[in-house]
Amino acid sequence: MLALIALGFVTLTSATLALFIYYKNPKSATNQLYSFFAASLVFWSIVMYFSIHPPSPSQMLFFIRLSMLAAILMSYAALLISYTIPSSNFTMNRTRFLIITVLSIFGAITAMSPYMFTGLSIINGNVEATAGPGMLMFIITGLGYTLASLIILARKYRRSTGIVKKQLYLVFIGMFIMFTLLITANFIVVIVFKSSAFINFGPLFTIPFLLLTAYAIVKHQFLDISLLLFRTVTFTLVTLAIISIYAIALFSFLNYLPKEYHTALTIFLALVLVYSYHPLKSVIESLTRNIFYKQAYSSEDFLEILGEIIRSTLTLETLGHKVLDELCRTLPVSRGAFVITQKEAPAQVIAVNYDPKPEYTDNNIYNLRQAAKNDLLIFDDLEEGPIKMLLRHLHLTIVMPLKVKSTFHGLLLLSDKASGETYSRQDVDVLEILMPQLSVAIQNAKSYEEIKGFAAKLKEEVTVATADLRQANRHLKHLDKLKDEFVFIATHELKNPVTAMRGYLSMLSEGLFGPIPDKMKEPLDQLDSSNQQLVELVNDLLQIARAEAKTLTIETKPVDLSAIVTEVCHTVKPLAEQKSLTLKYDRPKKDTLMVMADDTRCKEIMNNLISNAIKYSAQGTITVSHEFNEDKVITHVQDQGYGIAPANQVKIFTRFFRVEAEAAKGIPGTGLGLFIVKQLIEKMGGKIWFNSVYGKGTIFSFSLPKVPKA
Ligand code: ADP
Repeated sequence: MLALIALGFVTLTSATLALFIYYKNPKSATNQLYSFFAASLVFWSIVMYFSIHPPSPSQMLFFIRLSMLAAILMSYAALLISYTIPSSNFTMNRTRFLIITVLSIFGAITAMSPYMFTGLSIINGNVEATAGPGMLMFIITGLGYTLASLIILARKYRRSTGIVKKQLYLVFIGMFIMFTLLITANFIVVIVFKSSAFINFGPLFTIPFLLLTAYAIVKHQFLDISLLLFRTVTFTLVTLAIISIYAIALFSFLNYLPKEYHTALTIFLALVLVYSYHPLKSVIESLTRNIFYKQAYSSEDFLEILGEIIRSTLTLETLGHKVLDELCRTLPVSRGAFVITQKEAPAQVIAVNYDPKPEYTDNNIYNLRQAAKNDLLIFDDLEEGPIKMLLRHLHLTIVMPLKVKSTFHGLLLLSDKASGETYSRQDVDVLEILMPQLSVAIQNAKSYEEIKGFAAKLKEEVTVATADLRQANRHLKHLDKLKDEFVFIATHELKNPVTAMRGYLSMLSEGLFGPIPDKMKEPLDQLDSSNQQLVELVNDLLQIARAEAKTLTIETKPVDLSAIVTEVCHTVKPLAEQKSLTLKYDRPKKDTLMVMADDTRCKEIMNNLISNAIKYSAQGTITVSHEFNEDKVITHVQDQGYGIAPANQVKIFTRFFRVEAEAAKGIPGTGLGLFIVKQLIEKMGGKIWFNSVYGKGTIFSFSLPKVPKA
């Protein structure tokens, strides 16, 4: 009974294992050999059963011999696996393979011949097979191969790293336990102690191996069998194991209890089995889920943390590192990298737990991107092919494309999990939720970086330009100073000869050098007027030069403005009359109009404004009037002359500015008068402004402070 259950369990699991492993990846040599091994296990278990329970006693020897053949086949398969694992190509060299194969065939033939087991004999009531010289062949091909495969596996284990090391460890331990038990029970005990008591347990000894292999498959992606696919198998496996335990219990109880209780016990145990199956099943289910799908983190919390990182981080480098750190901490991923692309090609790699930083060719990234399109690329779910090979080569388990609409921004590359487990459904779900958010975040960070780069470049350019401007400004200031100095010196030097000329001219006109012939009178008048203009110009220039050299002194004191206006009007009246203009002064009723000002400068100001009104009028009246404020006296000089065009109004107080039309009319002038007037008024604490209507006339107004009341 026990033997049958054990047989059933082992053959079923091994056969399923063999099929799954083969169909998962039929091209991989490791998978092929592994399923071959599992198949040989099935074959061996069946043959073993028949060697103990032969259909007829005469066939017993045949089945015993066949079991030796099966054992050799198993060892042969184990040796080939240990050579190949975990590579997908068959790596053993041809000669070695030939020797091993030929020896195995020879061993198999010997096993079936009368030389390994010569015959059967009955010892102490038990049927025992008698060993012959052919047993040597079994020692070589059966035991020898087994030992060799264990040594090879152990060596491979020592040299390997990471997930492969974990896989090899489980395979080694599984094989080691299995072979030790088998050899001890089926060979050492049989040959040395001449007892076949344990042979019955034969198939059970393979269970540790099957369980460990299953565990390696589920936990460490062994042989690439997808977790979901194998989940059912694991489950069946565990359930069957439990049933075996029931069976063992039944078997042992039957041995110890008197015969009359047997039927009751069988029924009782069967009932227990039936009723406990469902609760047991759910316990196992939750147990397996706990072992294989351990929920070590809360998806919501994890996404919340990542969301916060995404919201609060602007720069690409920090964002990448923070996200990777979080993935490495929580999932936990052993290593991860962001590959950021610019114009399709990898431009930047941000990696965590890599040393040195990984490098990816344009081609690799292009292929991964093409394969991923808009979804996660998961190693386990891929069919065997170039992309799976590429992932294997780059040690990647998950590839996440970072895409916003149709623009591709890069890839998130994750290697295996730090625990060696496969990515769970939860991990994949979380990553899928994260994908769009992360893509937008990466896009934003990229744009931010671009803007930052642009701003930095702009700043650099502005700095250079500012430096140039400063340099130019310094140069201009220097030139301006030179010019001021030149004007000052030139006008200063001009002043004396011009004044001397004026003196001689007046002496000439007064006839001090004798009577002047009539013919000379006109040219002399011309000379006098030109000289007059020259004196004015030189004076103006000197004044400006002094103002700029800050040597112009203005002393304000209470002066009577109405007296000044009256005097100036008197002086310029002849000019107005020459042009048939009326000059009118609306003198205030009071006797005096006291303001704080410089007497001479005030005269200059009035002279200038009234002269301008006369110069730039063809007809009409020129009116001088006052207006009184609380602390100011405002003086208006109004004319009905040409007016100033709006375009020229802004420049009226600038140095050397003259309206070109006036210059063309032959009105003499320098463009300095208003500039000087403005400076003088402001120096005395006043202001000047004007209102002008082109073609209608102009009104110039200026203010001067009143004398403060004592
Ligand atoms: P100048 O009279 O020597 O040319 P100003 O500085 O006194 O220099 O005047 C500058 C310019 O302003 C003049 O050329 C003239 O075009 C304009 N301007 C000044 N006063 C008047 C005015 N009352 N009416 C019209 N235009 C004027």
